[in-house]
Amino acid sequence: MIIRMRAGAESGDVDFVVARLRSLGLSAHLSFDGDSALIGLSGPVDAVPVGVIQRWRGVERVLPTNRAYRLASTELRPERTEVRVGDVAVGRDVVVIAGPCSVEGRDQVLRAADGVKKAGATMLRGGAFKPRTSPYSFQGLAEEGLKYLAEAREETGLAVVTEVMAPEFVPLVSDYADVLQIGARNVQNFALLAAVGHSEKPVLLKRGMMSTIEEWLLSAEYILSAGNPNVILCERGIRTFETTTRNTLDISAVPAVQELSHLPMLVDPSHSTGKRSLVTAVSRAAVAAGADGLLIECHPDPDNAQSDGYQSITPAQLADLIGQCRAVAEAVGRNIA
Ligand code: PEP
Ligand code: MN
Repeated sequence: MIIRMRAGAESGDVDFVVARLRSLGLSAHLSFDGDSALIGLSGPVDAVPVGVIQRWRGVERVLPTNRAYRLASTELRPERTEVRVGDVAVGRDVVVIAGPCSVEGRDQVLRAADGVKKAGATMLRGGAFKPRTSPYSFQGLAEEGLKYLAEAREETGLAVVTEVMAPEFVPLVSDYADVLQIGARNVQNFALLAAVGHSEKPVLLKRGMMSTIEEWLLSAEYILSAGNPNVILCERGIRTFETTTRNTLDISAVPAVQELSHLPMLVDPSHSTGKRSLVTAVSRAAVAAGADGLLIECHPDPDNAQSDGYQSITPAQLADLIGQCRAVAEAVGRNIA
């Protein structure tokens, strides 16, 4: 159960509500949705006198919910959230974020940025800090890579999405990035979630390869409850017994999450399939299912990429993919941004 206080309610009124509920044996947890205090209750909620609470000063409404997350929930906020990144509103038209898995060098990222821009992408992706399964694999160019991404933004005007892997790097990555990506492997790195929650930058939160939807939304809740309302979710496939694809895209997560949460929802067809040949068909499916955007690995020379080349498409293939997705978007009443 959640009690939503009116926007700007006096702190004395909030304290009164919290104290009274605690005296009923409930645990009350205070968080904020903009100017409105939210009091989440757990314990013997059946004993809560809802009609009485509704009349306490400052109370806007009492929401009977048993969802573990609050700020991410459609119960609290039925209207869809749009996350602004420069002049792009993620959650309105379908966005295409494309670029290489890793930033490998200045020339490579500038070529990639130019290619994805010409293909019609809305934003540029590229990893400067790479979470690699093997410690012997290319780990990324770190700050040097961030500088090349910033240069690519200057050249193309495309906003930059890049991964941050540790709390201590949030300030550095924020100096260069427009959107902070939290990778699948870090979805339950709670210190990192809190750190990006304290940042001003929008956050793209991948689903963990072993996360249930509820666990993933609770990870989003860490960011929201730390004060950052700008969270974009990204389904990137989960690990199953199937080995033909790198992961198994949970396409039903798109409408399922949209029922549960107001946050915008993207699909990553590259990591979910692990196969270049499947990326276009899966992108069409994602748009048809209602995704708010796509996160796609695109490289000027995929066969010689330092990471994930086998699932990366060329800028020419991206242009074709966007054309096909435009037709699908129109069929389901959307536009490509
Ligand atoms: C990536 O986007 O390059 C990446 C590492 O993705 P994920 O965290 O989904 O594996
Ligand atoms: Mn990758």
